[in-house]
Amino acid sequence: MTQPTLTRSWVASANGHTDFPLQNLPLGVFSINGGAPRSGVAIGDSILDLHAAIDEFSGDARRAVEATAGGQLNAFFELGRGPRVALRERLLELLAEGSPLQTREAQVLHRAADCRMHVPAQINDYTDFYVGIEHAQNVGKLFRPDNPLLPNYKYVPIGYHGRASTIRASGADVRRPKGQTLPAGQTEPTFGPCARLDYELELGIWIGQGNEMGDSIAIGDAADHIAGFCLLNDWSARDIQAWEYQPLGPFLSKSFITTISPWVVTVEALEPFRTAQPARPEGDPQPLSYLLDKRDQAAGALDIELEVLLTTAAMREQNLPAFRLALSNSLHMYWTVAQLVAHHSVNGCQLQAGDLFGSGTLSGPQAGQFGSLLEMTEGGKKAVELPSGEVRKFLEDGDEIILRARCRREGFASIGFGECRGTVVAAR
Ligand code: CA
Repeated sequence: MTQPTLTRSWVASANGHTDFPLQNLPLGVFSINGGAPRSGVAIGDSILDLHAAIDEFSGDARRAVEATAGGQLNAFFELGRGPRVALRERLLELLAEGSPLQTREAQVLHRAADCRMHVPAQINDYTDFYVGIEHAQNVGKLFRPDNPLLPNYKYVPIGYHGRASTIRASGADVRRPKGQTLPAGQTEPTFGPCARLDYELELGIWIGQGNEMGDSIAIGDAADHIAGFCLLNDWSARDIQAWEYQPLGPFLSKSFITTISPWVVTVEALEPFRTAQPARPEGDPQPLSYLLDKRDQAAGALDIELEVLLTTAAMREQNLPAFRLALSNSLHMYWTVAQLVAHHSVNGCQLQAGDLFGSGTLSGPQAGQFGSLLEMTEGGKKAVELPSGEVRKFLEDGDEIILRARCRREGFASIGFGECRGTVVAAR
């Protein structure tokens, strides 16, 4: 499906909107005035209430809207590509300039600023991968300067099972966790608030149709099992992580909260921004055959600009704009999202509609492209200077991290993801 590049919307704020022009149409779950959560579509500065407009839909598009009932998108994700595309096509008609839906504006549109956004699905399982190769190298170098990547990295999409119960939508406070840490030079741990709190810039991947336990999703079919994308901040307590992670990986250093942007940017909206998976450097192994598909290699990568911004309490008091910590891109993924799906299910593990994957931190190779403070400060050795005169090695209470994403391509309308925000609050 080509993008209707030139079509304008009767929702005036959508035309040229940074994140949500007519060409995006992400789905989400919102509530208004304390009411029950319900499904909507972001259009400019507004939200289209899908159920208020339900009599405008028929056939597969109607089935899709019905599946978004109840304030969770799992059943909609489960329907897969056909109904999702039908819904998108009908929404493009309904929200385009000249549509009679405009006469019902007061009934079907809400100002986004009046709405509260929710996690859009019941997330039964959350898996965080580690496929940002520049991040893996940057972090690996801190520990093993001569041999930053472990021998499995270029064969296996590395991941671990994260905690689904503490995933929150953008805006939720980030309570500084407490835990065990091993102070430098000591042999016995101490207990207390995390002193090395960090963020991780990641892409979130929403699983659409799942698989039966015991079956695998073939690499050639894997793209059809993805419903959409969001931004994901994998908040990380580096001091807790350093002490607990061997031999089984991160545990309490990650499970206190994960923040996501609440809008599900669909596979279809991202179609113009797909590109070839970047060629592997000479000497790297080819993926094993269960991870290799010609079509996926030719068009399975995503070209999404990813940004991290910081404001501190002092910066907000001085009305200073948010400070950009990093500008990176999802092309730094060593594996495609289809490869993640194929790998996750290859042993017969059941994926379910509404499962969430994190990509792993998507850093670039250079300063200004690092997706965590761990990398920017080289493990807390170098301070980041802020426009307020403050410095940071790790996050302090009152600091707010904002993730943003933007897709641009000549000849197409740019789209964005909306924001993924979180403010650090003191340990309890
Ligand atoms: Ca992570």
